[in-house]
Amino acid sequence: MTEHLPTSADLIIRGGRVIDPESGLDEVTDVAVAGGRVVAVGDAPTEAAAVIDAAGCIVTAGFIDLHSHAQTVPGHRLQAFDGVTTTLELESGESPIASAYARVAAEGRPLNYGFSASWAAIRMEVLAGHPRNGLHGTFAGLGLPAWQRSASAAERVRLRALLEEDLAAGGLGVGILMGYAQETDPEEYTEVARLAATAGRPTWTHARDLVEVRPDVLRDGAEEIVRTAAETGAHMHYCHVTSTSTHHVDRVLGLIADATAEGGTVTVEAYPYGAGSTAINARFLAPDQLGLRGLRPQSLVMVGSGERIDSVERLVELRAADPGAAVLVEFLDDGNDAHRAILRRALSFPGTVVASDAMPLVGPDEVAGHAPEEWPIPPGWTTHPRTAGTFTRSLRLLVDEVRESWADALARCSLLPARTLESAVPAMADKGRVRPGADADIVVFDPTALRDRATYLDGTRPSEGVRHLLVNGRAVIRDGVLDLDARPGRPVRAG
Ligand SMILES: [Zn+2]
Repeated sequence: MTEHLPTSADLIIRGGRVIDPESGLDEVTDVAVAGGRVVAVGDAPTEAAAVIDAAGCIVTAGFIDLHSHAQTVPGHRLQAFDGVTTTLELESGESPIASAYARVAAEGRPLNYGFSASWAAIRMEVLAGHPRNGLHGTFAGLGLPAWQRSASAAERVRLRALLEEDLAAGGLGVGILMGYAQETDPEEYTEVARLAATAGRPTWTHARDLVEVRPDVLRDGAEEIVRTAAETGAHMHYCHVTSTSTHHVDRVLGLIADATAEGGTVTVEAYPYGAGSTAINARFLAPDQLGLRGLRPQSLVMVGSGERIDSVERLVELRAADPGAAVLVEFLDDGNDAHRAILRRALSFPGTVVASDAMPLVGPDEVAGHAPEEWPIPPGWTTHPRTAGTFTRSLRLLVDEVRESWADALARCSLLPARTLESAVPAMADKGRVRPGADADIVVFDPTALRDRATYLDGTRPSEGVRHLLVNGRAVIRDGVLDLDARPGRPVRAG
């Protein structure tokens, strides 16, 4: 297939079913890797330092997660077993961006990583004096009333200046946790989108409430996203559409379809679980707000202890004791057929990308923002199962239940998320594909064995079926075994 065949390679993956959704390639053949890139597909060189026998396996581009809050070494390892090779924190984001990239580069990561600029972290500092201090700091501040209010003109000037700084430092767009600061003027949202559009970067939104949930909301959360795309020309990305839309998902998907047909750039992601997860202090989990979503205290289960909250009093107590503590929120019931159908419709909607919303690990001797480096993850540590199982669970759902082809289902995990970022980060054109010249981010999995194992009570059980995982040509998983020393992850940055 290549004009100038390389005569040798670092590694040849032999005899697997190679699927590249972009070119339509789906055949049993070989893939050769050298210097961190794919050098040949089909006509592989005969010599290589190493050979992987991929008979019976699917060989395809590693998955690209646009939404992970599990940006630690163990978080990356769990995602590696889920087939992920690039994992990005785009919904909450980070600020200051430069120090986030520097910290992670100094520590090293198994997977490629990247961050958007965090509107929430900046807004908490400007409006509430809550200092920017990583994701843990942002989660801990979510419930502060002062950051959820309407901003003054001077505050908006300061907020925009800090966002511009973070975009100049390579931020992958702006993450906007609008659903946690519902008193924000719609005009501020438009301004932030305009700023992103000017910089040529997307926005990543956790939507404001829907009118069905809160009739007095300042603007319907879904209308706000699609209208802003039309008004500003910004690329608006709709985060975890199922958890914020639940029973109204068909109206929301309809709006997105109309907006796209009219030329707006609105992309959408979903994960395949009925329950969500967030910090216990989120405003929408306050006792007087729960009912709006048909939730009760008993719909909430603390991550870690597994405690189901049994009363309003206990909810108040837990929100005060550890405001950033992670909680499971049972928006939909995975055991209910009608609810599962909602998950299926969102995941199989044209263009939906799979994204995990992976959460930080919670454990017995937890220090803020840190997680154990031992592998396997020691007992007592847990998280929402989406952290470990989103991609394998989505593939099973799409292939086994929706009856999508492997190529179409895999495109939602690799090609489509790469395309979502390409206008801001041209280098993403070399990810999400298996072709000569592409980055050697490759997953080799057994399609008969592939499945998620993480549960709501035991969220850190790695998925099964991934035999080999290469990141920039380096094996992070080889013969099903994790290489504890492998940290080949590189930053994904804009500009
Ligand atoms: Zn969210």
